[in-house]
Amino acid sequence: MTLPILIASNNAHKHGELREIFAAVGGAVPVELVAPRDMGIDIDPDENADSYAGNARLKARAFAQVLFAQVLRQKTATETAETWVIADDSGLEVDALNGRPGIHSARYHKQAPGGDGCAELLRELQSVPDDRRTARFQCAIVLIAPDGSEHTFTGTCEGSIAHEKRGVGGFGFDPVFLVPGGAHTMAELSPREKHHISHRGVAARQVLAFLTRSTDPGADSR
Ligand code: IMP
Repeated sequence: MTLPILIASNNAHKHGELREIFAAVGGAVPVELVAPRDMGIDIDPDENADSYAGNARLKARAFAQVLFAQVLRQKTATETAETWVIADDSGLEVDALNGRPGIHSARYHKQAPGGDGCAELLRELQSVPDDRRTARFQCAIVLIAPDGSEHTFTGTCEGSIAHEKRGVGGFGFDPVFLVPGGAHTMAELSPREKHHISHRGVAARQVLAFLTRSTDPGADSR
């Protein structure tokens, strides 16, 4: 049985990335990640909480509310009634900036000159030596089950900030984020390599393990 999961985001890039991660991570339960548009859902909730989990929860709850209202209206649509909701929120915490930009990471890019958040970060860290350039990506994923229960998963990827941009893969801060070992930036990894170590990949693996347990409780003992 394929499990339908509504992605609580209108961002097509996010849909693609979550699908890619779930495919790379794999899992015993096949899932189908569905865009809101494909379920006739068109809302854009504010992300004004003060934590990654709080923001993910806001998004997941807003989309679940619309989904559950649909279920009540169209009592016949069994697939909709079995649909889960997933939301994620993430950001980059730089120690030399006291954890900034953190939950405001997306805004940091938007407000940077030319929209280049990586260049702005390199500028802010210009005089910061190597041993003080430590940073981490954080991710929270909130899953809402068809029965309304909420489940939160988190993932972290430790690293440091390079002195220049390198690589063309990924998005956001990937070109300046040196992964553990320091030899490569996240943007120099293949998508599969990135998802293997990334904050979102770590959290997504927990989601898939949880879905396996909750849809097939006997799976662990076999
Ligand atoms: P979102 O919550 O996934 O939309 O991420 C918010 C912001 O955090 C993005 O706009 C990026 O600046 C940054 N970010 C989150 N995850 C990543 C990543 O995997 N690579 C690079 N930047 C990221």
